[in-house]
Amino acid sequence: ASQYSHYDVIIIGAGASGLYCALTAGRRGRRVLVLDHANKAGKKILMSGGGRCNFTNYFVEPEHFIGSNPHFCKSALSRYPSWEFIGMVEQHKIPYHEREHGQLFCDDSAQDILTMLLDECAAVGVQVRLNSQVDSMQALENDKKARFQLLTSKALSKKEKQEKKEALENAKSMQTGFRCESLVVATGGLSIPTMGASGLGYELAQQFGHSLITTDASLVPFTFTDKTGELIRTLAGISLPVIASNDRISFKLPLLFTHRGLSGPAMLQLSNYWHTGETISINLLPNIDITTLLLAHKKTHPRQLIRTVLTDYTDNALPKKLLVALQTTLWDDIKDKELANIKDERLIELGITLNGWQLKPSGTEGYRTAEVTRGGIKTDEVSSKTMQSNYQDGLYFIGEVLDVTGWLGGYNFQWAWASGFVCGEIV
Ligand code: FAD
Repeated sequence: ASQYSHYDVIIIGAGASGLYCALTAGRRGRRVLVLDHANKAGKKILMSGGGRCNFTNYFVEPEHFIGSNPHFCKSALSRYPSWEFIGMVEQHKIPYHEREHGQLFCDDSAQDILTMLLDECAAVGVQVRLNSQVDSMQALENDKKARFQLLTSKALSKKEKQEKKEALENAKSMQTGFRCESLVVATGGLSIPTMGASGLGYELAQQFGHSLITTDASLVPFTFTDKTGELIRTLAGISLPVIASNDRISFKLPLLFTHRGLSGPAMLQLSNYWHTGETISINLLPNIDITTLLLAHKKTHPRQLIRTVLTDYTDNALPKKLLVALQTTLWDDIKDKELANIKDERLIELGITLNGWQLKPSGTEGYRTAEVTRGGIKTDEVSSKTMQSNYQDGLYFIGEVLDVTGWLGGYNFQWAWASGFVCGEIV
């Protein structure tokens, strides 16, 4: 007998993908242990979707995901379509509703989803051990039933760590050992560090020779430092539908001005496709071709002032405050001129600005507020059918720790469920 507790499957991370993998493996009769250093399982589930958890989407296609290998997500997503998860939600009688673009949210609370997952885990005997820090993990040879060995200790709170150093020593001296046949890394991404995010998954992957695709905060608001930043701050609180785009993609969604920069679904979606230094384009009046409008009005109403055309003929589509602010910054020189006295080129330039405002973000709000982490473990080195490492038998990676990032709209959870499912079927 050894001092190591034995499990068939150990999953590091009691988040969305880890819990889904656990209940799937548990249903197959596997003895499953889920370890998490946090004091609560599924913290991100609880804070997701503004507390209502956008748990999946009616329309899930591989195009809703980005990653260095765009084909990687296809197999898992097709084997675990969103209606599978919806079925479970319905079985648990969790009330939910559809919002625009097929997004599904709980009527009451994200807690319903977490409770469902934990209940399903408990029903098949999955053990969840919280406050557990993984101190070391190594692969063992010669025993197919015990391919991995882990040492864990009590995860200390920040306060505990500050208060007494010896607590740390004590915790280390009281390590618990585990052995397992299959080890699943489900530690998620780096966003929201206060919710338990850590780089452990990436470190473990590297330990076994895996490469990483550079990680970055994604589904995150943009920040601006120059004059544009000052302008944006004065408009905080204003929201309007726009088309946000770059040379790769465009999204017709609401934009929100904030004290820190530009946010709202349009910006979050675009952030998945943005890299430092790039320009973004915002069509502030997506339903009107401003150049055509101004040139036509110059002919039919030459005495009209430009601001009159922009308010009266755009049905106030631009909030007044935004129009005034843009006017002061971008076309102050012509605001009191009659159309007849403005050169066509100037009107065309103005039209281009309103239908494609070019902005260069200085950065994003970063991991502090990002919904996801872009990049992660390189998927070319992992099986898309099982999520098993190409380098180490019995080692698996699921969820956000992999280089698969979904759009806003329930896609990141759908990836967590789907990758957790296909892995749980085989571990
Ligand atoms: P997680 O759910 O993050 O789970 C990882 C787990 O691993 C955590 O419990 C963590 O404590 C644990 N862990 C990390 N490091 C260690 C370690 N060293 N030792 C032990 N355990 C460790 N997606 C959607 O689809 N819809 C939404 O509505 C939505 N809203 C969101 C709102 C916010 C504010 C945020 C931050 C994210 C949101 N997301 C949403 C994204 C979604 O939450 C994640 O993509 C998803 O949770 C990823 O699942 P995961 O299992 O890979 O990681």
